[in-house]
Amino acid sequence: MYLVLLGPPGAGKGTQAKRLAERLALPHISTGDILRQNVKDGTDLGKQAKGIMDKGLLVPDDLVAKMLDERFNNPDIKKGFILDGYPRTLAQAKTLDDILSRKELAVDLVVYLNTSDEIIIKRLTGRLVCSKCGANFHVTNMPPRVKGVCDSCQGSLYQRSDDNETTVRKRLEVYKHEVASLIKYYTQAKKLRSLNADLDPGVVLGQIIELSAKA
Ligand code: AMP
Repeated sequence: MYLVLLGPPGAGKGTQAKRLAERLALPHISTGDILRQNVKDGTDLGKQAKGIMDKGLLVPDDLVAKMLDERFNNPDIKKGFILDGYPRTLAQAKTLDDILSRKELAVDLVVYLNTSDEIIIKRLTGRLVCSKCGANFHVTNMPPRVKGVCDSCQGSLYQRSDDNETTVRKRLEVYKHEVASLIKYYTQAKKLRSLNADLDPGVVLGQIIELSAKA
């Protein structure tokens, strides 16, 4: 199952992708996570990406495509993947098809997680992320049992530098500019299914699993 999660920042792509990856025993591939790891490790890619990410803009297509192509060389994608954060533009959707077709693979299903702007801003500006396992919490909606500490692995929690209101609004603007063409592309390919991601995350997860069983 080659599944792509599409949706605005804060729609719950990361949370759903993590749970789906566990349930379906598939790797979770997040371009944002790979980029953040590069920033943390101080790689050339990380150095080029950091300023762009902090402004809420998109890292150039060629850099992200190369990074993804390298990730797809890992044999763990033989049975499938849950892809989160890519594609973000029509050009990236076409690149994804190209990279996969060279490996005789193709996207099976694209799930679009639809969410309202106000919910996104509340979710993201209160989001806390575990520095060790990447689990997400929220200061009010889903606080950790112990302040600043991950419930699952005891890693320390931090706020992403791009989860402030100004950058979140910019990320939303960038997202909206690009998403219409992606929706059209995957609708024409008969691969797109839309879900209301304002619902409880457990309900949304169940719906994605149902869709993936039918795909
Ligand atoms: P995310 O974790 O998916 O919200 O991504 C965080 C940031 O990483 C984005 O705001 C972009 O700056 C960058 N990024 C992640 N995925 C991509 C992508 N597919 N294309 C370009 N930039 C990306």
